[in-house]
Amino acid sequence: MEHLINGAKALLGLELTRDQIAAFQTYTDELRAWNARFNLTAITDDADIQVKHFLDSLSLLPLLRPGAPGRLIDVGAGAGFPGLPLKIMRPELAVTLVEATGKKAKFCEAVAARLGLTGVTVVNARAEDVGQDPAHRERYDWAVARAVAALPVLAEYLLPLVKIGGQAVAQKGANAPHEAQAAAAAVSLLGGGPAQLRPVALPGVAEARYVVVYPKLATTPRAYPRRVGVPAKSPLK
Ligand code: SAM
Repeated sequence: MEHLINGAKALLGLELTRDQIAAFQTYTDELRAWNARFNLTAITDDADIQVKHFLDSLSLLPLLRPGAPGRLIDVGAGAGFPGLPLKIMRPELAVTLVEATGKKAKFCEAVAARLGLTGVTVVNARAEDVGQDPAHRERYDWAVARAVAALPVLAEYLLPLVKIGGQAVAQKGANAPHEAQAAAAAVSLLGGGPAQLRPVALPGVAEARYVVVYPKLATTPRAYPRRVGVPAKSPLK
């Protein structure tokens, strides 16, 4: 776990505890075991898992108030990123993972159980349906996503889930400034405020990375998110 340990120190000024390191090791073991049967992730090298999955997920930590309980939803969590690493570091958070693919949702449930995490809910559904469900709509302090869709689409998945005063947060690559520009009108329609782009420099990763943060300023109109598939097919302009 040296890449994660050193990276957390360099990037976040964070000293991982023995228990946290053990949790990330168990997570790695599960990822490898499941990946041998299903294709969960293309990233299989040890150092890459530590940096590109775990450390990259933890780059959202500075946004989460330490020690304060809150509700976070990860949309399109895949094998649990960034939601589960964040839960390992901030057990006081209630974390919901939304994932459309059944086997990935099952993996997230299995890892959460294996790690003994309480306060993790896995929802095997589409973001468009979850965003119209009163149990989830405007109920979260943070709605986060990594590698799910371009920002104009992602805004329609994330902002309906965020309560006023909360934040929608997207982890993005070098194209983030351009995508943020393309999403500005959609974000405003959905109740979001101006984007804040925070650069993230992962050790040994050349590509520029950004965390894009939108404050939720106003209620999202009822019509959004639109039906399953519509946001991706006809992104808001
Ligand atoms: N966030 C994870 C990560 O960074 O490793 C997974 C990224 S993967 C490229 C995108 C995931 O989003 C897939 O597992 C896919 O099933 C899920 N997904 C895409 N659109 C979705 C939607 N509308 N609702 C729920 N899940 C969705």
